[in-house]
Amino acid sequence: MKVHLKALGCRLNEAELEQWSHAFRGKGHSMVTDHEDADIVVLNTCAVTADAGKKSRKLMNRLYRENPEAKLVVSGCYATLETDKVAEHLGVDLVVPNPQKDQLPQMVMDKFAGNTMPIIAMEPGENSLFSRGRQRAFIKIQDGCRYRCTFCIVTVARGEEKSRTLKDIIEEVQRLQTQGIQEIVLTGVHVGGYGSDLDTSLYSLVKAILDETDISRIRFASVEPWDLPEEFFGLFDSPRLMPHMHLPLQSGSDTVLRRMSRRCKTDSFRDLVQHARNSIPGFNVTSDIIVGFPGETEAEWQETLEYVESIGFGHTHIFSYSPREGTKAARLADPVPDMIKKQRSLEMHQLAERLKQQFAELQLGNKVPVLWERQRQEGALAKYTGYTPNFMKVETSVTNTVLLENRIVDTNLDSYSVEKQSLIGSV
Ligand code: SF4
Repeated sequence: MKVHLKALGCRLNEAELEQWSHAFRGKGHSMVTDHEDADIVVLNTCAVTADAGKKSRKLMNRLYRENPEAKLVVSGCYATLETDKVAEHLGVDLVVPNPQKDQLPQMVMDKFAGNTMPIIAMEPGENSLFSRGRQRAFIKIQDGCRYRCTFCIVTVARGEEKSRTLKDIIEEVQRLQTQGIQEIVLTGVHVGGYGSDLDTSLYSLVKAILDETDISRIRFASVEPWDLPEEFFGLFDSPRLMPHMHLPLQSGSDTVLRRMSRRCKTDSFRDLVQHARNSIPGFNVTSDIIVGFPGETEAEWQETLEYVESIGFGHTHIFSYSPREGTKAARLADPVPDMIKKQRSLEMHQLAERLKQQFAELQLGNKVPVLWERQRQEGALAKYTGYTPNFMKVETSVTNTVLLENRIVDTNLDSYSVEKQSLIGSV
């Protein structure tokens, strides 16, 4: 992770940055001087005067506005005195009050580091695939999961599936739409299980959102690659349902999947992906892979690499396995040594980057509607970042007089930058 640390107020606050920086670097993370380049932004606030509190709030706003994709972590005196207020502040992902300051780096790494196990739960705002912003909102449609994947703590912590009513969700979508939100991300622990307790389904929910609201774009957060009925992909006939799904595979080896107690094996996953791709032009499948699950042999690892390559994900989230207390997997024998996990993670990152580039290059020359989000000034130019319908990142530069933010604009996809891992477009 790239971490940016910032302090307001006293010397002590400054000094703490040093300690944190040391702890982050000790775990292999890097420090960046520009907050716009960071994955994690940590702000150590001050509250010595009312003015200092105001300054802290202002800075939180600015840090979030200028890099909404980063996770914003707030600590210090203001965050301690006004913990609830800060936690609810737009864009804040984690609050660490002063008594827990010493553990801040560890808390951040546990919660956000890509190299540890995901919590899996997709609380609104916790999904690292999509960023929040003025144009995109997360809608929590259900909680809980009926399955028992052996690495997953969520199912232990959150219990049975519980869905929000259609009416409730539709009202939220309508409200967000009036606030200028263009895109919603339907989120939950087991999104595909939506409605199991209400005698309805994800299919019916999406149909109702399409029929009863005018929201421009609908996406799904992570959806387990099962429990999707045959007719599901027909929903994508609507251009408002974005042609992308994040389907977590976790491993490309059936024996590992069995140890994980996953409901989906490699054959059925391949069928699902093929069905989606045959039904929907340009459909992008992204996924999660856990590296180094207990007992993962070299042969199983090679199977996973080959399988991932054969599917060709548009993006892959890679997690090194780490045991979570209370899960079945934490008691499994034969842990994979850290060195091997690191090596495998590196191999998977290299493969994932290559596959992403291949997928992006297939789209060069296309003209697609991009929802433009973030803006950064560079002299007389404004640089924007946005996403294609199939969730590929695009960047463009326009003169300062052209305003693209929160607009959906037809964009030519001209090239792909390996360095930025982004398409470069022109409007
Ligand atoms: S399907 Fe498995 S990984 Fe997903 S939430 Fe349920 S138990 Fe966890």
